[in-house]
Amino acid sequence: MTAPGTGVVLSGTGGVWRVRDEHGVTHDASMRGRLKAGEGLKLAVGDRVTLEHDDAMTIAAILPRRSTLARRAPGNRHRSRVVVANMDQVVVVFAVVKPEPHRGMLDRFLVIAESNDIPARIVINKVDLDQNTRAAELFADYERAGYPVHYTSVKRGVGLAEVGAVLAGRISALTGPSGVGKSSLLNAIYPGLDLRVGEISESVNKGRHTTVGALMHPLPDGGYVVDTPGLREVGVWGVDASNLAACFPEFRGALGSCRFRDCRHVSEPGCAVRELVAQRVASGERYDSYLKLLEEAEGVGGRE
Ligand code: GDP
Ligand code: ZN
Repeated sequence: MTAPGTGVVLSGTGGVWRVRDEHGVTHDASMRGRLKAGEGLKLAVGDRVTLEHDDAMTIAAILPRRSTLARRAPGNRHRSRVVVANMDQVVVVFAVVKPEPHRGMLDRFLVIAESNDIPARIVINKVDLDQNTRAAELFADYERAGYPVHYTSVKRGVGLAEVGAVLAGRISALTGPSGVGKSSLLNAIYPGLDLRVGEISESVNKGRHTTVGALMHPLPDGGYVVDTPGLREVGVWGVDASNLAACFPEFRGALGSCRFRDCRHVSEPGCAVRELVAQRVASGERYDSYLKLLEEAEGVGGRE
């Protein structure tokens, strides 16, 4: 019996898991029976595991997780399913134009990251198309809220080393609408890698509610890019209505100061969040996103 040591779960289908060991070799492995039955701790993409070679390659144990990206189990707000373990950051990619940035969508991605306690950063690509240098203005709200914003142009080679440094050695979900240049960015940072992020998930998921599992792509510098199909159907990701305001970092300082402890920050008198917005300390557009997401979050709770 040899002991290949530890590995990282890249993907899984029907009980067979693809695990990449510390030498970069990928194995098809199954969970040891005893582990399968135990404690309800389910293996997830991103998990670090110990591998043992008995008759076949076997996952013997799941190592402790440093983060989880979970989605609420459909129809049960108290149960959740881990979609990706050990993710270090969410990198949301948008373009200055082509396509026009959709701020509501950006805010949703950021809320998902916040609600899972995963740091988020923003990449704004195609700055070569930025005629009126509006990018910095458009995304100033996010820098003020504390998110790192990186401006890039694959076409002109701007900002690529910076984004490469951010991805190196980390597990990142690279997400954003199609056409903003996610694949172009990765291929420019890692020539020869030939990655197409999101393509698989988009074609498989089109018009259906099936959720295809996450996939991890190893990067040459020890990092991973995770493709999480579910991240695109953000409406279905459960965020508790009462926790939503705390998912907007610029609101957090005000949350203890509302007149009512259960303030929803909608129309209650003495609301400190609305005061921040009125004084333009927090952005009105971000607040609009809050209202929209609150409606959704409360709607989800109401149906159950
Ligand atoms: P993805 O769907 O997010 O992976 O986007 P792609 O990487 O497929 O890029 C979509 C289109 O945008 C392609 O035609 C790219 O050539 C183009 N593109 C990507 N980055 C840039 C950029 O920095 N500037 C310009 N002008 N076009 C870009
Ligand atoms: Zn309030």
